[in-house]
Amino acid sequence: MERASLSFLSTFLSDEPCIAVRQNVPISMLTGIRIGGNAALVLSPRDGGCLIRLLDFLSRGEVPYRVIGNGTNLVGPDAGYPGVLVLTAGIDRLSVTGTTLVAGAGVPLGRAIRRAMEAGLSGLEELYGIPGTIGGALYMNAGAFGHTASERLRHATVYRPASGEVTVKIPSSLAFGYRTGAIQRAGLIVLSAAFTLTPDDPEKIARRMGEVLAKRRATQPLDLPSAGSVFRRPAPDVPVGRIVSDAGCAGMREGGAAVSDLHAGFIVNLGGATERDVRALADRVRARVREQNGILLEPEIEYLSDLGAYQTQTE
Ligand SMILES: Cc1cc2nc3c(=O)[nH]c(=O)nc-3n(C[C@H](O)[C@H](O)[C@H](O)COP(=O)(O)OP(=O)(O)OC[C@H]3O[C@@H](n4cnc5c(N)ncnc54)[C@H](O)[C@@H]3O)c2cc1C
Repeated sequence: MERASLSFLSTFLSDEPCIAVRQNVPISMLTGIRIGGNAALVLSPRDGGCLIRLLDFLSRGEVPYRVIGNGTNLVGPDAGYPGVLVLTAGIDRLSVTGTTLVAGAGVPLGRAIRRAMEAGLSGLEELYGIPGTIGGALYMNAGAFGHTASERLRHATVYRPASGEVTVKIPSSLAFGYRTGAIQRAGLIVLSAAFTLTPDDPEKIARRMGEVLAKRRATQPLDLPSAGSVFRRPAPDVPVGRIVSDAGCAGMREGGAAVSDLHAGFIVNLGGATERDVRALADRVRARVREQNGILLEPEIEYLSDLGAYQTQTE
């Protein structure tokens, strides 16, 4: 596949000063696990309208592109990414009206939850400490401590690359499940989301947020780069870290990647880890777990090189 160059975009971009353009950006700088060669082009729209015009343009073309948030569930390709990465960080509007919190796709979950707390609104605090954005959290239906990102969702505004349609979807039409849903399966792009929250005392909410963060700090290797839990839970209430450590995998290494001793569900980058190291290590863990207790672990992290292109309007 040819690497994307500025030329196919230059006319479009010259009319869109609201898009920041960078070429040959190390994906390792865009992912939580700090892995990945260069992305040919990284485009950062500064507002929602600008994002939609960019998606319209890219969805009518043939250059592959992917929308990414904080990159905290992604492993970048060692060989780099030949297409366009669209970063949502600039889609950062956040507001509260009554008991409704509305957030742009690129708002970090932590910022949204703190804003809710300040407004005396509860319902998202169990997700505090998940390092992703609103868009990434709804794509993954991220969750923690028995709660998920879709639970308080009132509606999400999404873009469908295949048609260029922007629609407002209610949760029942998004078929959320454990770390999945229609956003993921149909390749929809989240533009913004509204959550219905419950009034509560800000001090109580802040206390719960502190407790959640303390639990994370005690149980997760937050001092080292990672992409969170590598595998999905094989069944509700079956913690993946315990299964992996019971199979004797904690501390296993492959190049610069290691299975965390603190939380064996995490693979951490000890320095210089590559996509190849992570894949090889995850494969060894899967094989060992399968051999020891017959459980086939499914990946929760995503490898950017495995993600199919969005369906475009040219198909
Ligand atoms: C230390 C650590 C702890 C973690 N703890 C948890 C946890 O407790 N629970 C949990 O569920 N996860 C956890 N994660 C994983 C990760 O933070 C979540 O999956 C998060 O929701 C990913 O959001 P992101 O913005 O980083 O998405 P990215 O990693 O940028 O992207 C992930 C996927 O979402 C897609 N995507 C991103 N933005 C959009 C958008 N606007 N519209 C459509 N698709 C989009 C991307 O294309 C990609 O396919 C953890 C990760 C780390 C590093």
